[in-house]
Amino acid sequence: MSDLGCSLLACAPDEDREWTMEDYASAVARWCPGCGDHAILTAVQRLLEAEQLPPEQTVFVSGIGCASRFPHYLNTYGFHGVHGRALPVATGIKLRRPDLDVFVVMGDGDCCSIGAAHWVHTTRYNPNLVALMLDNGVYGLTKNQTSPTSPKGVASNTQPRGAWLPPMNPLAVTLGVANVSFVAQTGDWVPAHLYATILAAYRHRGFAFVRILQRCPQYTMGLFEAAVRDPGMVELLVHPGGVEVPELDRIYQNRVRHDPSDLDAARRLAEPDGKIRLGVFYRNETLPVYEETRAVPTRSAAEKVALLNAELDRHAV
Ligand code: SF4
Ligand code: MG
Repeated sequence: MSDLGCSLLACAPDEDREWTMEDYASAVARWCPGCGDHAILTAVQRLLEAEQLPPEQTVFVSGIGCASRFPHYLNTYGFHGVHGRALPVATGIKLRRPDLDVFVVMGDGDCCSIGAAHWVHTTRYNPNLVALMLDNGVYGLTKNQTSPTSPKGVASNTQPRGAWLPPMNPLAVTLGVANVSFVAQTGDWVPAHLYATILAAYRHRGFAFVRILQRCPQYTMGLFEAAVRDPGMVELLVHPGGVEVPELDRIYQNRVRHDPSDLDAARRLAEPDGKIRLGVFYRNETLPVYEETRAVPTRSAAEKVALLNAELDRHAV
């Protein structure tokens, strides 16, 4: 992933260097024209620049799918893994190197289908990392199959008469897991809100799950079209403890004051009722993070030998 002019491993961190958005850009993104992933990539690059995250201290981990091309387009460390396995890889990285900033990028198929068990248990383990779930309601890379979040009745190559099951609700699922720490939703077509939400997730201490409603003009063109054209369909959750974007006040006038520390209210708001809600549903920074509760103390070779000998002596006959 790196084209920094030297191996990232060989580069000493340059404390005085100011990073620009260009420093984080890598290969030209090959998503379809109009794909929402382009806007999400731009928001992430803005975040990296605003927070001045050194590329050699930043890792993007992905699974498989259109969204999982993300690490190729960023000039940071990256790990393009296998189906549904981004979260355990990222947790391992964070456990071994808690000093790194770790981001996970998944699609709805990746996260909610083959990766569902990892998603649930990573929420419960609560590592301090950011998980972006780009939800376009379809398997796009493999060319239009029904995914767990495809709305009922939407046709695909695998269910040409329309999806026969109601869609999974990723917000409700995450909010139902013990130890949940941060849950938010935003949309790729509201750049200011998208950026503010990713920033809030990054600054949160704990596992920050962000569902990003993502347009796929190739296969699910109509999914968010009505909400894009009619801001009245969108309801913003606003609160000083969540995300507030004053420049959206004029366009998005449906607003609900929601305290994100209220888990019961968050669960009620996550239930489908025809509105598209954007904002922070829940946030709790008081929970222990996984890399601290599971931290392995650093020991010298001599200490390791002494511990090993003590353990073996316990079994001496
Ligand atoms: Fe984006 Fe859809 Fe094209 Fe994939 S298939 S790159 S999600 S527009
Ligand atoms: Mg998808």
